[in-house]
Amino acid sequence: MYRSHTCGQLRIGNAGEKVTLAGWVQRIRKMGGMSFIDLRDRYGITQLVVDDSVSHELNETVEKLGREYVVQVTGVVAERSSKNSKIATGDVEIKLDTLKVLNASVTPPFTIEDESDGGEELRAKYRYLDLRRGPLKKAMELRHRMGQETRKYLDSIGFMEIETPFLIKSTPEGARDFVVPSRMNPGEFYALPQSPQTFKQLLMVSGYDRYFQIVRCFRDEDLRADRQPEFTQIDCEMAFVEREDVLVTFEGMIKSLFRNVLGKEIEGSFPRMSYSDAMKFYGSDKPDIRFGMKIGELKSDGRNGSDNIDLTSGKDFVVFDSAEYVGAICVKGAAFYTRKQVDELTEWVKRPQIGAKGLVYIRVAEDGVKSSVDKFYSARELEAMANRVEATAGDLVLILAGDKKKTQEALGTLRIEMGNRLGLRQSDNYAPLWVYDFPLLEWDQETGRFYAMHHPFTAPKPEDMDKFYSNDREQIAQVAANAYDFVLNGTEIGGGSIRIHDSNIQKRMFEVLGFSAEEAEYKFGFIINAFKYGAPPHGGIAFGFDRFCALFGGQETIRDYIAFPKNNAGRDVMLDAPGMIDDSQMEELFLKSTLKK
Ligand code: ASP
Repeated sequence: MYRSHTCGQLRIGNAGEKVTLAGWVQRIRKMGGMSFIDLRDRYGITQLVVDDSVSHELNETVEKLGREYVVQVTGVVAERSSKNSKIATGDVEIKLDTLKVLNASVTPPFTIEDESDGGEELRAKYRYLDLRRGPLKKAMELRHRMGQETRKYLDSIGFMEIETPFLIKSTPEGARDFVVPSRMNPGEFYALPQSPQTFKQLLMVSGYDRYFQIVRCFRDEDLRADRQPEFTQIDCEMAFVEREDVLVTFEGMIKSLFRNVLGKEIEGSFPRMSYSDAMKFYGSDKPDIRFGMKIGELKSDGRNGSDNIDLTSGKDFVVFDSAEYVGAICVKGAAFYTRKQVDELTEWVKRPQIGAKGLVYIRVAEDGVKSSVDKFYSARELEAMANRVEATAGDLVLILAGDKKKTQEALGTLRIEMGNRLGLRQSDNYAPLWVYDFPLLEWDQETGRFYAMHHPFTAPKPEDMDKFYSNDREQIAQVAANAYDFVLNGTEIGGGSIRIHDSNIQKRMFEVLGFSAEEAEYKFGFIINAFKYGAPPHGGIAFGFDRFCALFGGQETIRDYIAFPKNNAGRDVMLDAPGMIDDSQMEELFLKSTLKK
């Protein structure tokens, strides 16, 4: 037996026991003729103590120890005189009898402590050492727990976990595919799945009416903030369901995760919001509803759920007069913002990511309103605008104007920023939300075609079928999808839809997306065909597992929740991958590089 206990196990009740431990040397301290060693393993840290005067031999071994040596020790558990309340084993220490070095270690490139002195790049290169640190260990444990609880819950309500292949033909989820050359089929390529979407739908045709899989997905995207080229989904599909069944089922799963992983009860059903309300009131399809600060429309066209309203035009203020849309948020109690702070905010909204042209404010005080545009508007007119967002004395109203969708989104971003600045977005507070009724399609000006907003298997809402079959682009653009997202604290964690299960509607979908009949047949013939053999009505959802874990862990970045992640350039800096392959391997795959060496 290498060990009788782990380094996280011993308590005061074990005092007097003779034990054997094994682990890594985290730290060695010498004090008044004694040596203290912190011994670490996955389970914790235990203090070892050696009286330097007792055994010459033991003493000599201790002298030779370095950080991260792997050792096996025996000794007797004793109560500590100065206890350490920060660690679970802090009441005891082991008075050593023997110490055996199982393996030496070269000096690690950074300190392996909760707060490390190593920079991100260095820690990524030595990820296997970084994983020894407490915060990463906690993240891995959380991820493990989330995975186990997910499986337990879904199994308990009859879901079957079924694996689907990684070497497939392209799945159209809107990103680029990673491809793998086939040696046995010269000149041909597999694609790695962007998700198991088509497979889970085929499983519904096969009759496995409750499927799930915790599964890797691959998307060759430019890595915007905190994305990974390979990431994990909790992928689910159900047959004989409507939207309501899917939402209720997964509300159950999410609640059970909150309960069993975080010990939190989420009471009642999750709030729901239509996509158009989300855009109108929050300027985002993933609103953070932990705080209010809803957008108010000061000028809008009455379309897509907007108010038909204009509190701004005709007063010679050209910016508002020429804008399609003017909207505002009310920042409660922020009237104290100085001119300088407002100027800084104005610069902030002008950043290219946000793209506003400027910012107008109204400061509401007991004795009236003050505004950057009071040259153009009377006090009553400004009050009417302030009333629109329910501002009262002490509040600051921030107004943006411009193209409708862009300005709504800019207001949404500004709202989140103000939420951050005012401390309204605490991570230990959770606000789940369903967003539903997304548009089915998005028109792309550049390529002059429609793209599926979710994916091409999403069903149009039945009441929009006429529009879906219309020849008028405007009509088609208005078709709503029977799709839904799960949003947690302003982050999209899951997305899904009720699917098309009729091969004719599916064909029409490919037509609307601009595929020729031959193209559709070549790429998706298998699924159109499968739908001819008794496809049941079905729908599903997939959750971004890495991000779900990060949110539960109260962290921003998903990288900490992936044992071996890639960096922002999609590289594994530990493996130094991707890398070249040698010429013979290229030849075998019938590949030639066109890259100039
Ligand atoms: N396959 C979809 C996605 O990855 C999820 C779904 O529709 O179930 O976003």
